[in-house]
Amino acid sequence: MKILVMNSGSSSLKFQLFNLPDLTVSASGLIEQMGDEQSSARLIYFDSAGTQQTLKQTVPVAEHRQAIIIMADLLRESGTMNDIQELAGIGHRVVHGGEAFHEPVLIDDRVISAIEELIPLAPLHNPANLTGIRVALEQAGTVPQVAVFDTAFHQSIPEHGYLYALPYKLYQEQKVRRYGFHGTSHDYVSKQAAQFIGQPITELNIISVHLGNGTSAAAIRGGKCIDTSMGLTPLEGLIMGTRSGDLDPAILFYLARETDMDMDDLDGMLNKESGLKGICGENDMRTITELAGQGDRLARLALTMFCYRLKKYIGAYMAALGGVDCIVFTGGIGENSAIVRQMSCQGLERLGISLDKEKNTKQRNAISEIQATDSIVKILVVPTDEELEIATQTLRVITER
Ligand code: AMP
Repeated sequence: MKILVMNSGSSSLKFQLFNLPDLTVSASGLIEQMGDEQSSARLIYFDSAGTQQTLKQTVPVAEHRQAIIIMADLLRESGTMNDIQELAGIGHRVVHGGEAFHEPVLIDDRVISAIEELIPLAPLHNPANLTGIRVALEQAGTVPQVAVFDTAFHQSIPEHGYLYALPYKLYQEQKVRRYGFHGTSHDYVSKQAAQFIGQPITELNIISVHLGNGTSAAAIRGGKCIDTSMGLTPLEGLIMGTRSGDLDPAILFYLARETDMDMDDLDGMLNKESGLKGICGENDMRTITELAGQGDRLARLALTMFCYRLKKYIGAYMAALGGVDCIVFTGGIGENSAIVRQMSCQGLERLGISLDKEKNTKQRNAISEIQATDSIVKILVVPTDEELEIATQTLRVITER
């Protein structure tokens, strides 16, 4: 028996098939650029001898229904799955669970309506996630399906941490509050870190920093999140590839009055033209590091700003937690950029945070510790695996059913 994990985006479908009971990966695939001529479908799988193989299709994929049929075809062709009806379960990534979902749930009509009601809070993501769920229900009617929410891990944040200092009725009537995202990743890497350290997570204070195209930090006490940097939307907090993170909201009123930018222009600027890209014109950390190394002033500035903001959040979360046992770096940048880890921990030695330069720069593809021997705080690099966490949670929900 196998578990399938689906991550349905607005124009893409990412999926991974896991073997039971050990949750090893059997196949993973990506269908991209749905809706245009360029769309492509690719599957990487392990054959019966354990050798990695690849299957590709270049037919145009119009929408999710066709994508799911192609996914099932590819899995059948690879021999990793005979029939979608034979799966033990399907786990779906859902971006926004609002206050309705504190944990993964078995999908039924009530859950679908609740995800639908949350569309105004995640207009780009929840509709795509829902389409994937609806089509998967049609195609695999009797297979139990589970929704795993990016926001659920952050539902343990106390009221004083999740409320904005706005008129209280905006929370009561419009549900304006901090929700946080990347919860599946923060949850997974903090548990991995505790296991690596060999201490129960209930005894640890952890700061987890997920640095990918989107970036966020989470303060985790005893396995429960008590604060996170993303807010009502994924725009708040750390500097990201193209998103600004924290800023004075009055900048928007100022620009609306002083320029011809309207609401959509401001939205587009904050989400797509700001962050690292806004400062130096590039949003890929590899390019920025290279340019900074060649002496490019704005690339160096973007890198410095990115790490300085992160350092401030590490300090703030140490205060919120009352001390930290372990800092975890994850995500494409967190896992791969030694310079970002070094610059964001630099100068924190008096707070008990000290990196070992050699360990930090060593190539790795597994969980590893990079703190100096005299560092009070452990510093870990933990490769994230959101699909595996979704598969694990899906298995738990269908087993407890
Ligand atoms: P993710 O969203 O987790 O896939 O992360 C994407 C980000 O990781 C991009 O900004 C990449 O520039 C960054 N990234 C990937 N590999 C490296 C690397 N070797 N060094 C620095 N940044 C990297």
